[in-house]
Amino acid sequence: MKEKKKSSLTVLLGYAGGRKPLTFLGITLSGISMVLSMVPYICIWLVVRDLVAVAPEWTKAESISRYGWLAFAFAVAGILFYFAGLMCTHLAAFRVASNIRKQGVARVMKAPLGYFDSNASGLIRGRLDASAADTESLLAHHLADVVGAVVLFLSMFAMMFGFDWRMGCACLLSAVISLLAMFSMMGGKNAEHMAAYQAAQDRMTKAGTEYVRGIPVVKIFQQTVYSFRAFKEAIDAYSDEAEKYQSEVCEKPQSINLTFTEGAFVFLVPAVLFFAPNAASTGDLAGFIADFAFYGVFSAIISTALAKLMFASGNTMLANIALDRISHVMNAPELPKNKHPKTPQNSRVEFQDVSFTYKGATTPALSHVSFTAEQGQTVALVGPSGGGKTTAASLIPRFWDVDSGIVSVGSVDVTEIDPRLLMEKVAFVFQNNRLFKTSILENVRMARPDATREQVLAALSAARCDDIIEKLPKGIDTLLGSEGTYLSGGEQQRIALARAMLKDAPIVVLDEATAFADPENEMLIQTALAKLTEGRTVIMIAHRLSTVVGADKIVVLKEGRLIEQGTHQELTQKGGLYAQMWADYNKAVQWKISGDKEAI
Ligand code: ADP
Repeated sequence: MKEKKKSSLTVLLGYAGGRKPLTFLGITLSGISMVLSMVPYICIWLVVRDLVAVAPEWTKAESISRYGWLAFAFAVAGILFYFAGLMCTHLAAFRVASNIRKQGVARVMKAPLGYFDSNASGLIRGRLDASAADTESLLAHHLADVVGAVVLFLSMFAMMFGFDWRMGCACLLSAVISLLAMFSMMGGKNAEHMAAYQAAQDRMTKAGTEYVRGIPVVKIFQQTVYSFRAFKEAIDAYSDEAEKYQSEVCEKPQSINLTFTEGAFVFLVPAVLFFAPNAASTGDLAGFIADFAFYGVFSAIISTALAKLMFASGNTMLANIALDRISHVMNAPELPKNKHPKTPQNSRVEFQDVSFTYKGATTPALSHVSFTAEQGQTVALVGPSGGGKTTAASLIPRFWDVDSGIVSVGSVDVTEIDPRLLMEKVAFVFQNNRLFKTSILENVRMARPDATREQVLAALSAARCDDIIEKLPKGIDTLLGSEGTYLSGGEQQRIALARAMLKDAPIVVLDEATAFADPENEMLIQTALAKLTEGRTVIMIAHRLSTVVGADKIVVLKEGRLIEQGTHQELTQKGGLYAQMWADYNKAVQWKISGDKEAI
């Protein structure tokens, strides 16, 4: 436990770079400020001592105001040191948080694109952002507070025994009892209770997330909240564990702890009554009373110091959790780079005996798939849902790397091509193409940042987007997602095609997703697609057979295996799966037409 705490702090400070010494300076200043803030207590003792010495002629105590000013000066100096310390720890903490964010983003940028499929971008951002913020409060505040609390404790010890060790012992006794009570909550069987309690809390959180996710289903199917029995059970189980933990583990020790931290003086009064007669007989009653006053005031800060120590352990736990989350991002897989990259000679795409299984999956998404798209050809991937079409298309821009076999572009294995060059060679238009909340101009220009306005306009025009731009208030400078500007699915698809058009890559991988487009949009998209694929090598995931008739080659994938390949003509004559799919498709179209006629 101690080892882990140490190492996580070292890891965190590693992110501080040149500002690391500021953390140490900050906590040192914070420690000094604690020592300074002790002085006013000594001044109180001096005041009491002087007053008792001259009693009842109070006016003779001339140094009182001096002690007052001294106490004030030290209190102010303590605050100033504390602030200076906080400034230093903050400067370092901000650097740590910003470096975590920067390095995390840099790391994620090197991850294969498929990483973002299994790790939603929101999740990555949340992990990085929230965890960086958590470490910020640990390094900026809590660390200084922990050191401050330890210094406070040590100086309290020194002072307690410096003035009168007997009264020091009396005060200390209550602190020891509190600490023992606190520690008794941690070890042995109680640790099991704690683990069970935390497990119940985890289960409840997970069930809660499922519940929120399922709300739309509940509403649509008019279910009651009782359909989420798992959530209710998780809450009940948590409630039971919490109660058990509370009554069996916390109740007694926590009561003892609070009683003795808040009432640190309970042993002080009997001690004073016991030792006072002795002090009176030695003639030092005045000094003894002054000491008592000092301890009376002083015992009050014991509870503050103990509370700080208690909170410190909780904060360290938070920082450990944050570090775990950060390391998840920092250990994101890195796209392996070839040290001696090769340049593809042309834009031929070839799959040679390719097999691939998703991480965690039991059956391969692709097994032993081989096909070729010659330069300038259009190859359509068809087949039942789950056949492996999307997976095959994703392997070309290296969303994932194959388990065995080779995917090559221009006769070079894609893993041997510099990732940047590969990205330049391949444009992909997938269903979830994202448009950002910026102008259409910038959205399209993302494909080629040095493109001129005219080139962007030409690409938009080639992608049949003229009608979209005309109806927008500021043309291509209109910000998407603001000023009430929202584009339909089909319109977004066309903008995404313009983006691919501007990129002007020799290979286009596209998911022909026109399912959600209205007929007018669909026609425009088909024209834009025809334009985009002109003279390029195209790998197209086809969902409807009407679009693949003209393809140079059709590759039929089923359950990850290549069933057959050839032209439309060849495959329909062959009478295999494609011929059957084609027959089914035609039947569906005829039904639709006759259905429409009946409706008329
Ligand atoms: P298609 O595009 O033909 O519908 P996919 O390539 O999407 O098929 O899927 C092929 C197989 O791989 C399916 O069994 C699917 O469940 C699985 N699969 C797809 N994506 C993932 C993923 N990210 N993780 C695990 N399995 C996946």
